[in-house]
Amino acid sequence: MATDIAAIPVPPECREMVRAGALVAINSSGGKDSQCMTILLSRIVPREQLLVVHAPLGEVEWPGTVEHIESTLPQGVPLILARTSSGKSLLESIEERGRFPSPSVRWCTSSTKRGPIERELRRYLQAHPQFGGRLVNAMGMRAEESAPRAKKLPWKRSDRNSRAGRSWFDWLPIFDLTEAQVFDVIRAAGQSPHPAYGMGMSRLSCVFCIMASRADLCTAARLQPSLYARYVRLEERIDHTLSPTGVPLPALTGVPVEPDPRKRRLTPRAFVPGRR
Ligand code: SF4
Repeated sequence: MATDIAAIPVPPECREMVRAGALVAINSSGGKDSQCMTILLSRIVPREQLLVVHAPLGEVEWPGTVEHIESTLPQGVPLILARTSSGKSLLESIEERGRFPSPSVRWCTSSTKRGPIERELRRYLQAHPQFGGRLVNAMGMRAEESAPRAKKLPWKRSDRNSRAGRSWFDWLPIFDLTEAQVFDVIRAAGQSPHPAYGMGMSRLSCVFCIMASRADLCTAARLQPSLYARYVRLEERIDHTLSPTGVPLPALTGVPVEPDPRKRRLTPRAFVPGRR
C-alpha cells in the first residue's frame, strides 16, 4: 500500500519555519531514502523554498548517481553539488592517512559529505537573503536502519551551524518509514530507484562502504571489478582493510583480483637461448 503523506510527522517548529519562509535543503545521496524524502517534501514545501544538495564522491560513487538525482529532481528545484575543498578523492585521502575510516571514526562522512554540504548551504543562505537566514536541513536517515540511528532525534537545532542571523535545524523527515514504505513512495510517484538496487545492492553512495554488508560487498565486487581491484590493492599497500573485521576484501567476498598489470610488466621474460 502506498505510504500516505499524513504518515510523515512534521514537527510544529518545522511547520513554523516553513511558514516563515525558511529554505528546506534536501541532502541527497541519490539513494532510495533521499529519493523518497525528495518526493514527499516536494509535496508539502513550496518549490521556491526547496533545494537539493549532493556531495559527489566521484570515482568511488555508483556510476550515474548525479544523473539519477537530476532525472528525479522536482521541477523548478535547484540542485547544488558540494565538493571537497581539497579536491582529494576518498581513495587519495585513505592512502594519505594510511587507514580506512571505521564505523566509530567515520571521517569519510564528515570530510566528503557533511563538511562540504554544510559549507555550501551556508554560502547559499548568505547569497539568498529571502530565506532570512532560516534553514531546515533535511536528511534521509531512518530509525529502522540501525540501533545508533534509532537513537537520533528527528528534529534538532544545529548548534554548530546556528549563530546570530542564522537559524539552522536538522530534520529527519522519513525517520519512521520502513524500507518497504520507502520503495512504495518511489513506485507510487512513478519513479524508479537507482539501477544498482535492481542489480542486488541494498544501499547506494560509496560502491564499497565501510559499513556495507558482506552481501553488498560481494555484489559490488562483481559489478565494479576495476574499482574493486583498486580497493584490494590499496588494502595491500597500506596494510589495512576496508572491513572493520580486519578481513581483506578478497577473503571476505571470495572474488579474486587479477595481479597488478604494472607488477606483471616487471616480471622477467623467460630465457630463450638465441633470443635477445
Ligand atoms: S558511504 Fe560509507 S564509506 Fe562512503 S562516506 Fe559514507 S560511510 Fe564512508
